[in-house]
Amino acid sequence: DAELAEEDDEDRLPRSPVVTVMGHVDHGKTRLLDSIRNAKVQAGEAGGITQHIGAYQVEVEHESEDGPEDRAITFIDTPGHEAFTAMRARGADVTDIAILVVAADDGVMPQTIEALNHAQAADVPIVVAVNKIDKPDANPDKVRQQLTEYNLIAEEYGGETMFVDVSAREGQNIDKLLDAVLLTADAALDLRANPDKQARGIAIEANLDRGRGPVATVLVQQGTLHVGDAIVCGTGHGRVRAMLDEHGQNVEEAGPARPVQVLGLTSVPGAGDSFLVAADERTARQIAEKREAAKRAAALSKARKRISLEDITKSMAEGKVETLNLILKGDAAGSVEALEEALLGIEIDDQVQLRIIDRGVGAITMNNINLAVASDAVIIGFNVRAEGQNAEYADREGVEIKYYSVIYRAIEEIEQALQGMLKPEYEEVDTGSAEIREIFRSSKFGNIAGSIVRSGEIRRGAKARITRGGVVITEGLEIAGLRRFKDDVTEVREGFECGINLGRFNDLQTDDLITTYEMREKPRENTSK
Ligand code: GDP
Repeated sequence: DAELAEEDDEDRLPRSPVVTVMGHVDHGKTRLLDSIRNAKVQAGEAGGITQHIGAYQVEVEHESEDGPEDRAITFIDTPGHEAFTAMRARGADVTDIAILVVAADDGVMPQTIEALNHAQAADVPIVVAVNKIDKPDANPDKVRQQLTEYNLIAEEYGGETMFVDVSAREGQNIDKLLDAVLLTADAALDLRANPDKQARGIAIEANLDRGRGPVATVLVQQGTLHVGDAIVCGTGHGRVRAMLDEHGQNVEEAGPARPVQVLGLTSVPGAGDSFLVAADERTARQIAEKREAAKRAAALSKARKRISLEDITKSMAEGKVETLNLILKGDAAGSVEALEEALLGIEIDDQVQLRIIDRGVGAITMNNINLAVASDAVIIGFNVRAEGQNAEYADREGVEIKYYSVIYRAIEEIEQALQGMLKPEYEEVDTGSAEIREIFRSSKFGNIAGSIVRSGEIRRGAKARITRGGVVITEGLEIAGLRRFKDDVTEVREGFECGINLGRFNDLQTDDLITTYEMREKPRENTSK
């Protein structure tokens, strides 16, 4: 869809910030969202928030420099950074500010770090809610200290991040937290939108209701949405038959930063789909059909944006981008740290920079891939892999995953890439994988892994690696023997069972994945794309 021309500044009026709540599991994200909702009900707000519609807006009495003023904040009612990053991967940036919830008794945990990495990668300012301060073993100061390491330095320590001690359970300091959100928004962002035009925005969630048909919660980002508007949402369209707010009340219009449930669409959009208002229903249908065709074409062709080290560094050399974003995944905390340290030690000229936007231990997940899509990042797997669905997903989304098992190889290649001299001539290409179902101990043949081929084909003589839950156990093995029933065979294809012998290697368990691979000459980049 054609972008609308940049409008005059004076037409853009201040709008409310849109907030996502993130943090480690059980640190109180859901409870905090409830508590914010309830605080407003107790304050006597008409109706109260009775419905979960995927987002809600609360009124806040804010103490500004010019005295008290009435403001509003919009909350995305799906806690966690997974939804946030999945939406961003689809091109939908709805969040202005992230509240990072950290339980004061538990302190910083792995998903706390993951969440802040995701927010920082999106350049979304963070307000820290130090939660559960009602607990006797709460240590809010420790949380402040721990987060300093991640560049979140509390204002009281001379930094720029606002930390607010809260108890979601007791409803304590919720007003202070809301104030901190507004102060942070005012200091860091200039949130404006023109309410006087046709509405545009993003679908937050949607479902098919038995009685009412497709129901979508949309967040208006600019313009004002009215009942009766002809609308395109994702690849669906329709006319806005009715709109409901989070109080279950009918509303006639919704301006910027206002979430509303929309009735009247012909199909259910996906979370992150954009919507816009068209001149009339016929135009809306035409735009929807175009979107549908474009979606089908994109799914069919491989002519998608590829995020590869080679492409990114080429763009860097041409001055089009300045940053190489990397996501590091490894088999142990120590190796990830060592790799990060070595990568950050690479000397690069001041035109370009290298940014590690996320790091972690374990297999490469859907979440990592979504972050890579959202931030144009390359993923580095150090002795870990993306497997099965995740590997396919990365492929489909055009995300490059570079696998290494030796730190200096990784450093060498990234260094070459940053100098614009990337020439890895060979790459590992997986040719097949098989999942181990049962292990048979045989004194004559050594161990036989009774397996089912999951992808490609397994060939006798092929090079093999073993992974367990995505972590590489060993590489450089050879398929020494391959049998189907009682026969020796040279290859077994996807879907078939077989017995695999890996020579003297015996450290096998059921559910391990045997992947065969070969070294292939890397195809030179084709210039036509
Ligand atoms: P989420 O996984 O981050 O959404 O966490 P929940 O909101 O589900 O909270 C996890 C648990 O911590 C629940 O049992 C909550 O009742 C409890 N909890 C949440 N906030 C507080 C708090 O401020 N104080 C105390 N004592 N418990 C809390």
